[in-house]
Amino acid sequence: MENVHCPVMVKEVISALKIASEGVYVDCTVGEGGHSLAISGATDPKPTIVGIDLDKNALTKAKKMLGERAVLINDSYVKIKEISHRLNYRKIDGILLDLGLSSLQLETTNKGFSFARESRLDMRFDTKQELSAWEIVNKYSQQELADILYFYSNESKSRQLAKAIVNARPIDTTTELANLIKSTMFSNRKSKIHPATRTFQALRIATNDELGNIQKVLSNALDILKTGGRVVVITYHSIEDRLVKRFMTKYASKCICPPNNPICNCEHEPKIKLISKKVIKPSENEVNKNPRSRSAKLRVAELL
Ligand code: SAH
Repeated sequence: MENVHCPVMVKEVISALKIASEGVYVDCTVGEGGHSLAISGATDPKPTIVGIDLDKNALTKAKKMLGERAVLINDSYVKIKEISHRLNYRKIDGILLDLGLSSLQLETTNKGFSFARESRLDMRFDTKQELSAWEIVNKYSQQELADILYFYSNESKSRQLAKAIVNARPIDTTTELANLIKSTMFSNRKSKIHPATRTFQALRIATNDELGNIQKVLSNALDILKTGGRVVVITYHSIEDRLVKRFMTKYASKCICPPNNPICNCEHEPKIKLISKKVIKPSENEVNKNPRSRSAKLRVAELL
């Protein structure tokens, strides 16, 4: 059982952030502090680090790991601008987003993130939030559920599954939901992944408005980065990665005219430059050592 979160692509993150001693770095998803610890150790004297996380429990671990090396803030990364201003950091040298969830959260028995662990359906990173996966599963309309499954996990049987969920209500626990999915989707026996994987991903994204949050934090990041400052994003599934790629490509491009425009008339000014045109993936060695890194993709952009 993995009970310590092993940070992903640490070397790549450090090099992408171009860390400088006098720099200010915001780790938007500080989690247990793995990346922040590496950022802190990258220069002597140490850079200034602000670590943000919605999960209080994660911050307690981060505090133990980081001590005085970082200012820790229990809030959403969406508020990166307000948080930096409040701390009097007007311009930031580097911003890191390590999306998804930590091994600790996946393993925590009462969070309901994992279909392999019996728990009430919850999936909130922020326990103060009202909406939980239980509400979505038990209260949303069949159409809303089908859309969530389709758009947040590319589930091809989204309608069938949404219907089965509505018919089986109330569904209180992860196990009840996982068993229902298994019995509804028995078809592809060759697939190595459990049929509930996609549904649980979709519910987590919907519960925490993850895609909306990524859009917001990226826009806000561009407002507070200094010229030459970098934003580094690690994603763990194609829906997230596509969103980040589209955002970065749009703000890096000189023209955002529709492809069929004969001449450019958008007068779009690029705001960022892509540091690596191709997405950066973990080494084979890392994937072997840390299976959680398997699906990781890293993208870096620099403010112009
Ligand atoms: N890099 C971390 C692990 C990050 S896992 C480490 O090395 O330990 C992703 C983290 O993002 C989780 O701790 C989760 O609680 C946090 N998170 C998810 N959505 C968030 C949001 N909107 N604002 C702040 N933190 C968020």
